[in-house]
Amino acid sequence: MTTIKDILRSSFEIKNPTLKKLEGYGSINYKVDSGNEIYVLKQYQKTEENSNLLIAESKVLGILASVTPLEFPKTVCTNSGDLFAADEHNIYRLLTFIEGDFLADIKHNNGLLQSFGAFLGTMNQKLHGIKDSVIASKITEWDLQYFYLNKRLIPHIENVQDRTLIEYFFLQHEQHVRPVAHTLRKSIIHSDANNWNVLTKKGKVSGIIDFGDICYSHVINDLAIAMTYGLLNKKKPLKSAIPIIKGFHKQFPLQEREIEILYYLIAARLCTSLCNSAFHKKDHPNSDYITITEKPAWQLLHQWIAINPLKATDIFRKAAGFSSVLSKNINDSLKKRKKHSSKSLSLSYKKPIEMTRSALQYMYDEQGDTYLDAYNNIMIVGHCHPKVVTAGQQTMATLNTNTRYLYKQLNSYSEKLLAKFPKTFSKVFFVNSGSAATDLAIRLALTYTKKKKIAVVKHGYHGNTRSGIDVSHYKYANEGGSGKKEHIIQVPLPDTFNGKHTGNSQKTGKKYAKEAIQKLTKHKNQLAAFIAEPIVGCGGQVPLAQGYLKMLYPKIRKHGALCISDEVQVGFGRLGDHFWGFEMHEVVPDIVILGKPMGNGHPIAAVVTTKEIATSFENGMEFFSSFGGNPVSCAIGEAVLDVIEDESLQQQAKTVGDHLKNKLKKLQKEFPKIGDVRGSGLFLGVEMITKKGKPNTKLASIIKNELRNRHILVSTDGPHNNVIKIKPPLYFNKENADVLVDGIADILFKFTHNKS
Ligand code: PMP
Repeated sequence: MTTIKDILRSSFEIKNPTLKKLEGYGSINYKVDSGNEIYVLKQYQKTEENSNLLIAESKVLGILASVTPLEFPKTVCTNSGDLFAADEHNIYRLLTFIEGDFLADIKHNNGLLQSFGAFLGTMNQKLHGIKDSVIASKITEWDLQYFYLNKRLIPHIENVQDRTLIEYFFLQHEQHVRPVAHTLRKSIIHSDANNWNVLTKKGKVSGIIDFGDICYSHVINDLAIAMTYGLLNKKKPLKSAIPIIKGFHKQFPLQEREIEILYYLIAARLCTSLCNSAFHKKDHPNSDYITITEKPAWQLLHQWIAINPLKATDIFRKAAGFSSVLSKNINDSLKKRKKHSSKSLSLSYKKPIEMTRSALQYMYDEQGDTYLDAYNNIMIVGHCHPKVVTAGQQTMATLNTNTRYLYKQLNSYSEKLLAKFPKTFSKVFFVNSGSAATDLAIRLALTYTKKKKIAVVKHGYHGNTRSGIDVSHYKYANEGGSGKKEHIIQVPLPDTFNGKHTGNSQKTGKKYAKEAIQKLTKHKNQLAAFIAEPIVGCGGQVPLAQGYLKMLYPKIRKHGALCISDEVQVGFGRLGDHFWGFEMHEVVPDIVILGKPMGNGHPIAAVVTTKEIATSFENGMEFFSSFGGNPVSCAIGEAVLDVIEDESLQQQAKTVGDHLKNKLKKLQKEFPKIGDVRGSGLFLGVEMITKKGKPNTKLASIIKNELRNRHILVSTDGPHNNVIKIKPPLYFNKENADVLVDGIADILFKFTHNKS
């Protein structure tokens, strides 16, 4: 077998060199010291494709050789003037060695980064317009125009939530890059200006090696790739982006449409790198070369999702001298909204927010800010969760119809959903809102029992339809409400903090239950149902006292009435310990109302009940909901259930929720104005009180609005609007929880210090 030394001697007239093996992807590389000169010998498998590519690569290197003083490897021809030597199995190519420190090894400053951009811009400018059919026909997953090819590698990423983060950016690439790809400039690009390929001298980028990823791709991809590496290991990555863009733009002016997608291209390069390291790591678990970028790349991807794409784009644009795209204020939108929408639609916060996009536990506004979402429980599996969005998109593009036809999605989802319930529940009716579900639940109860009266808990809310308002003390007893209707029986909220009976034992719950039973017994011949939430959200995140339902439910049934559990807020694993709220009270209702998180923002809701109750409803009148249970909704609902399960989000609600609650309880010890911290999993309430123990509406409002100014979303509720509601997407993690608690602590310190 020929040795490397043989080849060097016979083909390149290098005798007795010192050889050192270097790391490499598609080739075996050696550093060759001839005594006079240093070279790199690259050994490739002998294939027609490789030899054609090497010829094309040498052509490019030949063109770049004139771009002085920038340094590129030069091809050293063989004795006989060929671009490479070959034996039976391999091709050997000799290149000049470029001196310098790797970009990875030196400290970055603006001057260095600007020279990085300028280097790249100069190289791209030189290569622009050059055509090569071999390079043009190359297709690899490292070429960002073929980013989607990396999808097959996603399963190799071990952590399921990391996989989701990657899938989220694949989805965004499809939304924002693919549709405009055909409008972008193309050119031969280096396509791998990573920290270990870029060389520097005296604090400036001076050269680049490894043209193995060279391709005919979108010009902007070369900058996106370089920026990805320039932004690694930076506390404020956007700050480092500015000099790189400036440097590039000066040499090779960028187009606005290119800058528009840069944010998503940088994410795409990170995803490419992460998918490939996850894949190759399996075969080479100890290779530093393969995983060298992995840790900082994950770090940057997590930083990246917390950056509003609009803000990134704005900074990129301004670096290239284009105008700002951020909206200065919300006045225009407010004006239009006032014109077209009723004042009865409320807006959150003293300073309303105009949202543009959202991502898992983050939301982005028109002004370029990112909000940590600690409030929107509807997005249970995270904003724009890729699996849920894809399920919706694919089904919408395939079939959408109604329950008068047979289709798989209805059966499949019904089966999966019912499997989450105790066996007594075997029927599901799909509708489009929690309100419609409440309405239907009441109809079912009235039909089944042939009675008229409904018992409700004070401060409860169950929907915006007429019968929804009728059963919602929160609405009928408050401003604008027309009071309790005759068929409604209201019982006190079994609130162990503010109520008549306090203390967290079963005894307290029983006291409340006894009083409720006394009241309900008076109406026993007319009582159709009792409706309650397991934790009363609008009442101020108040868990029904322990033991309350356990004592009350049997009595209600004894009167021939039904027990309805409204799980619209608390269902689907949010409580951590339990998938459904009724489980925390150790009871099984007759009818369950579902909504909000069921479709992660898609309007799907349901009533789940027993066969017996559903049968009583089969009285000849058709039940039809035009949209309820349509294939798109069912596919989305099923995806939500799958994600909760696959990503162990109930467990996450438990661990993060416990962590958050403990921290809030600690804060309570420091600040007596926190009267109570309650709730379960990621459904928590923090009740603010005055020095005298009265509801502190003002302080709750300050906290909510100040948190909003610090870009954290919560709301307030309860009869006195003095309870901070925390119910984030379950993607919320411990670090997010810490940010929230630190924010509350800081505000409390500022606003309550030495004040009453
Ligand atoms: N029940 C409860 C407990 C709710 O919180 C809500 C909505 N806030 C509803 C029912 C009504 O749901 P929707 O807004 O989807 O009609």
